Amino acid sequence: MAAVLPQIKKFLADEPLRLYIGGKFVPAVAGGTFETRDPGTGQVLSRVAAGEAADIDAAVGAAQKAFDKSGWASMPANDRAVVLHRLADKVDEHADVLSQLESLDVGKPLGQAAGFDVPSLSQALRYFADLAVQARLREPIALRGLEAYTYRSAYGVCGFIIPWNFPLLLLGWNIAPALAAGNTVVVKPAEDTPLSTLYFCHLAQMAGVPAGVMNVVPGFGSTAGAALAAHSGLARIAFTGSPEVGRMVAVAAAKNLIPCKLELGGKGAAIVFDDVDIPQTAEKLAQAVTLNSGQVCCTATRWIIHQRIYSQFVDAVKTKMLAVRLGYGLDPATEMGPVVSEKQRSRVLGYLEKGQAQGATAVLQGGADSSLPGYFVKPALLAGSPENICAREEIFGPVAYLMKFSTPEEAIDLVHRSRYGLANSVWSSDVTRARKVAESLVAGNSWINAHNVFAYGLPYGGANLSGFGGGVNSPETLRDYLRPQSIVRPYD
Ligand code: ADP
Repeated sequence: MAAVLPQIKKFLADEPLRLYIGGKFVPAVAGGTFETRDPGTGQVLSRVAAGEAADIDAAVGAAQKAFDKSGWASMPANDRAVVLHRLADKVDEHADVLSQLESLDVGKPLGQAAGFDVPSLSQALRYFADLAVQARLREPIALRGLEAYTYRSAYGVCGFIIPWNFPLLLLGWNIAPALAAGNTVVVKPAEDTPLSTLYFCHLAQMAGVPAGVMNVVPGFGSTAGAALAAHSGLARIAFTGSPEVGRMVAVAAAKNLIPCKLELGGKGAAIVFDDVDIPQTAEKLAQAVTLNSGQVCCTATRWIIHQRIYSQFVDAVKTKMLAVRLGYGLDPATEMGPVVSEKQRSRVLGYLEKGQAQGATAVLQGGADSSLPGYFVKPALLAGSPENICAREEIFGPVAYLMKFSTPEEAIDLVHRSRYGLANSVWSSDVTRARKVAESLVAGNSWINAHNVFAYGLPYGGANLSGFGGGVNSPETLRDYLRPQSIVRPYD
């Protein structure tokens, strides 16, 4: 078991951990606090100041002041890139602390936090810093009788509401393009997992990010989150989380008439044709649905298997899922940690119960694991009708729902039974066929012979119930944070 680092003990002991506003760590105006727990033990890790409307107001004020006066928005992109690379360097230098904090607060295996979550944050900062240096802020428009060009500049204060499944990674995906473009930001991390984001504020201070450019206000969704979404001082808002809350954020943004970017989860499907390498595909899909204990919006949760290989595939995948080692995040042998909270565990177990009550068969029972303290759920496989609640709703746990198909049209129809449209995958050794099927799926992302593929430069986003307003991780994302304006002069 990895020992908790002394820097982390010191950081957690300085409770209540404070909000980060205008370059300073401050208590919440109303003095409220909340607990954040280790999902692997159920024990309290620390207390955190609970921001509310007054704190959000202060943070937006500090961000506006920094936008107007700190020089961040007006300095050349190269100068901002220098600061963002320095911040990425700090993330890399403190990667061991950030990884442990992420593992402790979310429950995820340390190796995954260290190998994926934390490097994704520093890569996001570097990718968008470099992209901004290359961005053309003045683009001539060829028109008769007019000297015209598009000019792009930062919007102002951008709000971000982040969920608990990938706190640091989603922080990077969201704020890096906004900062690189010259905006200032106010972030509301999820109440279940505020720790790594607050630690990151110390790194921003060390890296010389000007005061007020980045502000972080932890707190509850219905108070801090709702206040941020409704704040009239925002120029844009981005939300990652459930469709229910996404709708409320979109309504609040509409009232202020500001652009809104939403990433709202999914019910990803994997179509498995009968010409796949069965053990290999079974292994990859078992990995996909157990990654982060299934708390991944784009992961493969509906497996649509060709009827000719169905039984063989189910046998192979059951073996793989039973072999997944559940355990505490800091134990190096752990392959899958707990889910994030008691609330989330009840939600997953509730779905397993309701799904079976509606007639689904438990191919692999899974469910609660009482041999471990904390919020553990064993991987489960259900099979049955596409009308079942577990085939339709996002469970956000290590649960896959199996269905059979015989023709590609049938498989495509099953994928489209869901109103989500984030990410699906097609598995076949016939790449031409796989491409054709992939193109016919209505979703932001269609992967072939893989699931959960991310790269900076590869756009990622959703369609339908999975969101709108532009995705993340690509050159278009940087554009989203630059306000276009046409400058024009008629000439004789
Ligand atoms: P989940 O169900 O995965 O927790 P949510 O959509 O509830 O997803 O939460 C994602 C983020 O949205 C969290 O930071 C949460 O605090 C925030 N949130 C929850 N309710 C609201 C709300 N009414 N307004 C704004 N943000 C909210």
